[in-house]
Amino acid sequence: MDDSRPLPDTIPVLIAGGGPVGLTLAALLARHGVRSLVVEADAGYCTGSRAICISRRSQEILWTAGVGAALAAKALPWTGGRSYWRNREVLHFQMPSEPTQRFAPMVNIQQFHVEAFVHAALRDVPELVQVAWSSRVAGLQAGLDGVSVTVETAQGPRVVRADYVAACDGGRSTVREQMGLQFEGTQYEGRYVIVDIVQETRRPVERLAWFDPPSNPGSTLLMHRQPDDVWRIDYQLRDDDDAEEALKPENILPRVQSHLAMIGEDAPWKLLWASMYNAKCLTLPSYRHGRVLFAGDAAHLVPIFGVRGLNSGLDDAANLAWKLALVLEGGAEDALLDSYSTERVHATHENIAYGAKSTEFMAPPDFAFRLMREATLRVALDEPAVQSLINPRQSAPVAYAGSPLNGPEHGEWTSELAAPGQPAPEALVRGPQGDFHLTQCFGTDFTCLVFGDGSLPHAVADLVTHGIAVLDIAPEADMLGQARLRYGLPGGTASTALVLVRPDGYVMGRWRGLAPEPVLACLRAKGLQP
Ligand SMILES: Cc1cc2nc3c(=O)[nH]c(=O)nc-3n(C[C@H](O)[C@H](O)[C@H](O)COP(=O)(O)OP(=O)(O)OC[C@H]3O[C@@H](n4cnc5c(N)ncnc54)[C@H](O)[C@@H]3O)c2cc1C
Repeated sequence: MDDSRPLPDTIPVLIAGGGPVGLTLAALLARHGVRSLVVEADAGYCTGSRAICISRRSQEILWTAGVGAALAAKALPWTGGRSYWRNREVLHFQMPSEPTQRFAPMVNIQQFHVEAFVHAALRDVPELVQVAWSSRVAGLQAGLDGVSVTVETAQGPRVVRADYVAACDGGRSTVREQMGLQFEGTQYEGRYVIVDIVQETRRPVERLAWFDPPSNPGSTLLMHRQPDDVWRIDYQLRDDDDAEEALKPENILPRVQSHLAMIGEDAPWKLLWASMYNAKCLTLPSYRHGRVLFAGDAAHLVPIFGVRGLNSGLDDAANLAWKLALVLEGGAEDALLDSYSTERVHATHENIAYGAKSTEFMAPPDFAFRLMREATLRVALDEPAVQSLINPRQSAPVAYAGSPLNGPEHGEWTSELAAPGQPAPEALVRGPQGDFHLTQCFGTDFTCLVFGDGSLPHAVADLVTHGIAVLDIAPEADMLGQARLRYGLPGGTASTALVLVRPDGYVMGRWRGLAPEPVLACLRAKGLQP
């Protein structure tokens, strides 16, 4: 890795950990013009099989981070999956998806590719981001006006003074340990062997799950395709299986071969990598400790079933980046950072609730759960209504219900999809330069969506002088009617409204009519001057 510049003495944001969350946070901060130093213990990107399923929301965030094209060129999109009990299909699910959508609901890609793509984007902004590879955060002293961080480098220890530290140093976070903070929550007993193999296949990209398959009786087995002809296969161990033995190739190969044979995949294959996993539902009670903010696995560990690990970490980065930027440039009081913790701890609790349900289905923690699962699978064979219980509940962005940042909602609306605290709905609209998606406009500024009736009132256009981007969605721009429908405007094109969207793409407030004063008043009431 090529960034050999000496470490700076001072930096606005020091990011401990250059995994996917730390690197993405650096890229998003750079979008706001904020300088950061990423300190990464390893010499390069992660190895082996980790996150593979990247949600639509994460694709939006990564696009803002500058890796949209690279991701789209490499990743494998998918929209649904199938579950089997023994050798019979019990569920065929589809995630919401339509041809006008910007991104697939999910794409599969190896985590190391994501890290490499974000790092490549960072190379375009060397004046804003420095990545110190093979350097470890060894200690820190946090004060009221900054944090002194001791970094171990190949040249010896250095002290860097940062205005803020973002702890993105993973599940075994040194920063968390140094600050004496502890995770709270549950660790599940059920163990999964995670195996990557290389094998050519023509199968569609889907999430495939088998419960008690003839190839591996008694086990649960998941399969996902990844780029470069790689299959990811996860299978559950029995309680009495020895973990060390289970990871020996002579024990992995027959189990994988038996399954490939069962599903008719007969091309030659080879083992790439194998490891052991067990699900955890753990979180810090708060992600803000003075000038130190926790994100990604350093803040929370959620089960991989439902793929909320990396996806929720990227949401942390998106939530934190604009708030740090606004505070550092004097556009908000430092108290804004408290809302980062409130919102993202709430999101973790939601993710854990979903992840725990998925885990209990994928790896039943006791006999009672196992019995219940078997009964559900048996009934689902003939009863479509029961199939929803088997649905893997894939990651979706969490609404910030009750957030202190949520503004008002004035007037009548026909949909709650765009209520304050919700992720702003997507829509394809028409502009002077052609058709575009609303989410392309989010990511850096506050944006006011103007649902006008033709011409844009001057007073609304003036919001730009307050640093708010204005997006005119006149009736003819909403050529498919998606925006008016999804943002809940009643009565067709005659009704008018303003919707304020935060830089991370969440709705802050919405008002019927076209008076801009309530928008400004809302921002002021929240202590924000964008
Ligand atoms: C088997 C497996 C499968 C998974 N599948 C999925 C999935 O499909 N979808 C999903 O969303 N998530 C999945 N996850 C979870 C996902 O991999 C993690 O949530 C993700 O890696 C978190 O990213 P992070 O940047 O927070 O932490 P990490 O990726 O752990 O990165 C932390 C970085 O900090 C560095 N570091 C540690 N200590 C220090 C220090 N003292 N100083 C400097 N650097 C330090 C580490 O070297 C590392 O590079 C999976 C995880 C596993 C293990």
